Amino acid sequence: MSAETDTTPFTETDERRSLRREVAKLASGYGREYFVRQARNGEKTTDLWLDMGTHGYLGVALPEEYGGGGGGIGDLAAVCEELAAQGCPLLMMVVSPAICGTVISRFGTEEQKTRWLPSIADGTLTMAFAITEPDAGSNSHDITTTARRDGDGWVLRGRKIYISGVDEAGAVLVVARTEDARTGRLRPALFVVPTDAEGLEYQPIDMEIVSPERQFTLFVDDVRLPADALVGDENAGIAQLFAGLNPERIMAAAFATGIGRFALDKATEYVKGREVFGAPIGAHQGVAHPLAQSKIEIELARLMTQKAAALYDAGDDTGAGEAANMAKYAAGEAACAAADRAVQVHGGNGITTEYGMAGLLVAARATRIAPVSREMILNFVGSHSLGLPKSY
Ligand SMILES: Cc1cc2nc3c(=O)[nH]c(=O)nc-3n(C[C@H](O)[C@H](O)[C@H](O)COP(=O)(O)OP(=O)(O)OC[C@H]3O[C@@H](n4cnc5c(N)ncnc54)[C@H](O)[C@@H]3O)c2cc1C
Repeated sequence: MSAETDTTPFTETDERRSLRREVAKLASGYGREYFVRQARNGEKTTDLWLDMGTHGYLGVALPEEYGGGGGGIGDLAAVCEELAAQGCPLLMMVVSPAICGTVISRFGTEEQKTRWLPSIADGTLTMAFAITEPDAGSNSHDITTTARRDGDGWVLRGRKIYISGVDEAGAVLVVARTEDARTGRLRPALFVVPTDAEGLEYQPIDMEIVSPERQFTLFVDDVRLPADALVGDENAGIAQLFAGLNPERIMAAAFATGIGRFALDKATEYVKGREVFGAPIGAHQGVAHPLAQSKIEIELARLMTQKAAALYDAGDDTGAGEAANMAKYAAGEAACAAADRAVQVHGGNGITTEYGMAGLLVAARATRIAPVSREMILNFVGSHSLGLPKSY
């Protein structure tokens, strides 16, 4: 083999590495203390969000002609991971620039792109995303929120649950179903609904996650929308939806990996300093090995996330779909294990508010459930990758 073996699939470009360093620097200026303080005081992270927008990090993957950086989802995932690794995991990164930004830039009209993308890129507007419904749950084929034609426009009616960041959002990209005039069958389609639209109401859900970003129940009660609220083609809703779901999974994997890194950094720092039995506890293999395991699991999850992002950015939606699901699974598992081990090595301190480790458990746990649960990923891999009978 030649000495010039190509390592590009396994290393990031200088540009990507520099992006990571810059984001980490900016985020460390805010840090975990800021994030937790805002959450506990019922306040938001708007200043961090706008700072990210001003520096071009939120819009890094959006097209340049609409105020973005013209990069790929791999760049945006790197931004999301570095933020989380500094203790500031921002869920709206997954939703606003990644899902909503992708769907609008790929399928929106010129007018919709001009209207929404520049403000998503600079952070002056965040867009929430609403697909989950109380009765349908993981089975999104069963959603019942409907969009009925009303003259030139639409009337939406239904209910959504666990929708992140509605209180901070200027609009919500809502997945509803339209009726096929010929067959009467319902098909999913995507609508931008301004959060101040008449008939749209939302209520916060009390969650145990320590985060300034909250989840909401959304009541969509005969909300009237103009014709141009529909994004893309009414007949191609499923394909458009899937186009947004790959970036969602890649970003969720990056989000989880960042949480895992943060937990592992804190744990490592602690075991180097805490002395029991006359030596730092990190000298005991019973303490060091679980942390080493986490290091390996996190690196593997990062690698798979980078592969998924590279496939997506190369236009391979199918390959990216499988890799993004696997990355999300691996990252969720790695984050949960890292958070659990970080609590354990802190001993009693692991459960104190001062050390803030226990709060990570729920945040990490959420990455196993949302945006797609580990079981639904295993279902997908079982049927899609292994060719087993589809059970769902
Ligand atoms: C913090 C957080 C933020 C969120 N933000 C958003 C958002 O912004 N927008 C949005 O639309 N949604 C959001 N969600 C919702 C999230 O996508 C759903 O919670 C998730 O898809 C699971 O759906 P569910 O909660 O209804 O669980 P259910 O579908 O009721 O599932 C419950 C359990 O049963 C398992 N299960 C269900 N069916 C099967 C099966 N066939 N085989 C094996 N196991 C199965 C699931 O894996 C899960 O463990 C968020 C959720 C959380 C926790």
